[in-house]
Amino acid sequence: MDSSKPNSGNPLSQHIRLEEIRLLYGGTPFSYTASVVIALIIYSVLLDHVASQQNLNIWLSIILGVLFVRSIDSYRFAKRTQQQQLDNSWRIRFFIGTGVAGFCWGLLPWLGYSAEIEYFSFILVCLVGVVAGSLSTLSYRWETLALFLLPASVLLILRLLVEDKDFFTATSFVLLVFIFFSLSAGKKIFNNTQQNIRLRFEADSREQAIELMHQKQALHLQNTPLAIIEFDIELNVTEWNTAAENIFGYSHDEAIGDNIMRLVLSRDSSIEAEKLWQRLLNYEAVTGSVIENKTKSKQTIYCEWFVTPLTGDENEIVGIAAMALDITDKKQNELAIIKSKEEAEKANQAKSDFLSSMSHELRTPLNAILGFTQLLKYEKSLTEKQQSHISEISNAGNLLLELVNQILDLARIEKGHLQLSMEKVALADCFKEVRAMISPLAEKNDLSLDINIEADGYVIADYTRLKQVMLNLLSNAIKYNVEHGSVCLKALQKEDGLVRISVIDSGKGISQEQLQEIFLPFNRLNAASNIEGTGIGLSISKQLVEMMNGNIGVHSTVNEGSEFWIELAGNLNVEITSKHEEQASLNEQTLASKSDAKHNILVAEDNPTNQTLIMSQLEALGYTAELVENGQEALNKMVNNDYQLLLTDCNMPLVDGYKLAQMIRERGNHSLPIVALTADAFPEKKAECLKAGMNDHITKPVDLQTLKDTLEKYLG
Ligand code: ADP
Repeated sequence: MDSSKPNSGNPLSQHIRLEEIRLLYGGTPFSYTASVVIALIIYSVLLDHVASQQNLNIWLSIILGVLFVRSIDSYRFAKRTQQQQLDNSWRIRFFIGTGVAGFCWGLLPWLGYSAEIEYFSFILVCLVGVVAGSLSTLSYRWETLALFLLPASVLLILRLLVEDKDFFTATSFVLLVFIFFSLSAGKKIFNNTQQNIRLRFEADSREQAIELMHQKQALHLQNTPLAIIEFDIELNVTEWNTAAENIFGYSHDEAIGDNIMRLVLSRDSSIEAEKLWQRLLNYEAVTGSVIENKTKSKQTIYCEWFVTPLTGDENEIVGIAAMALDITDKKQNELAIIKSKEEAEKANQAKSDFLSSMSHELRTPLNAILGFTQLLKYEKSLTEKQQSHISEISNAGNLLLELVNQILDLARIEKGHLQLSMEKVALADCFKEVRAMISPLAEKNDLSLDINIEADGYVIADYTRLKQVMLNLLSNAIKYNVEHGSVCLKALQKEDGLVRISVIDSGKGISQEQLQEIFLPFNRLNAASNIEGTGIGLSISKQLVEMMNGNIGVHSTVNEGSEFWIELAGNLNVEITSKHEEQASLNEQTLASKSDAKHNILVAEDNPTNQTLIMSQLEALGYTAELVENGQEALNKMVNNDYQLLLTDCNMPLVDGYKLAQMIRERGNHSLPIVALTADAFPEKKAECLKAGMNDHITKPVDLQTLKDTLEKYLG
């Protein structure tokens, strides 16, 4: 190892080394001066009493020479920088110098030998003095003491032993003991010195760290945006930083000693503050509590508080340390967001309410239009042209009804009123039914329709709503197709437990920009005006599929065609038994078979058009009926007549349909079948009717087939 390099190591050991070497060199001016004085005294005392004057001169010259060289060394050391003083060569030089000096002093009994015993004793005393003196200057590094003592004393002892006198033998023994104790004292002093240096260094470092911490704390305390406040158990403020001044408006001098509650609390938040205080008294720290505060200028602000109790020696609470962050802006933004959200919700609610009441109102006239049109379709006396006009009215009416139903659905989805009944839906069931419903449209448009009704497996969905979505996608695929085009419905098992149902058409496709907007409501994407549509089908389909925990998507290429797909949880690799029966559709045969049994039916309906319609419908189906205008009249009629069935509107003057059913049941008549006629298509309406004691519910516009089925169900 290169000894000239400063010793590396941790800061503590470096510090100890530096201290040591400085202490060693630092003692030299005093010890060298003392050595010169003692050497001169010895010389002058021994002059004329030594065995060889020349030897004494040599000794003095050597000792002064060594002291001179070492003084120069000490001087040069003092001029060096700290880093240079750490250089190992200074240690080595000091060690060598000490050894040489010890040896020189050891030469004294030889070169300054005196046959006169009192002079020799004088030498002895002087050397003992020098040895003792070295203890105070060399024991900072105990090896240096050994380096000095051993040559100095061993030579002295040898000299004593050479003289064949009991006195010297005894003296040399005492000297040996003295050296031993000096060395062990030196070792102890060395250890203590080391320990002292270490402790001093640690204390210095700690003091520096504390000082730095205080400086940092003071800096943070003054520059932080957090109000830092401390108060005692009497709630009197003891600490108040710049941020507290800025937030609450009181200067440091104004705040110190004043009551914290009076300074920062608004009256409204005193209950909260009391609760917070109780928590603190239970030694609980409070973090992030938002409290309404006030400033000096009586302005209301909101602060987030972080408060913790300060405890004394015996764990008693001696004060409170608190930090407060002014979050007034954030709070006001939050309040503004909540307000605008509430307003938006209100506006949305108003829109949904409007849509739902408007579509409800539309159903009543539609009931008449579609009902009478349906009746006219079976009028044999009409010409072909008149029949064609009736067909047009029927188509337009049905389109209007679809629009009304879709708007109702949209409003109910937005209001969160739409309830789904999720189940395992057999795809074969669903495919079969939609094929039956959609193939007339495909045939009319001269399109090939490919739907595999043998499909295995199931998806988790609401049966009716799934059908609604598939019918929407299929009718779009047909409507927006090209002449002699094709439409295909297929199902595919995906790896992640999902089943993808795709409707693929060979239509005109949709451009990339239009695809971005395709699921927005009331967006018909420039569809040709001769193609009937409302622009809400896909928007409802998307919401329905998402409510059924699925996804909907589309790929399309202009002039090639589109693929609309939905993905729902399910499995295609299992067989599942059919649950849903194919619904009977209205046809002329079933209608043709009129009822010929005599039944007494009572109809309660207040709207004149609806009155004429229902009576005509009943007549067309072969039933006879009596008509009343409200619930009260119905009750009166029932006193003297026996009816087999009551058909009643729900909303009527005096006694409405619900009240009527309720009163009939209360009067003990539980056998009369009561069927409601209502313009409300909501399932909740049906539940309300059943609750009032009715047996069934038919939604307006009343479909002849439904009316026929219902009457047959109760009248047999
Ligand atoms: P509607 O069909 O009643 O207009 P939708 O919400 O079902 O309303 O569809 C929105 C629009 O998306 C349609 O008007 C049509 O422009 C376009 N579209 C839907 N399906 C297809 C399709 N298969 N091919 C081409 N365009 C389509």
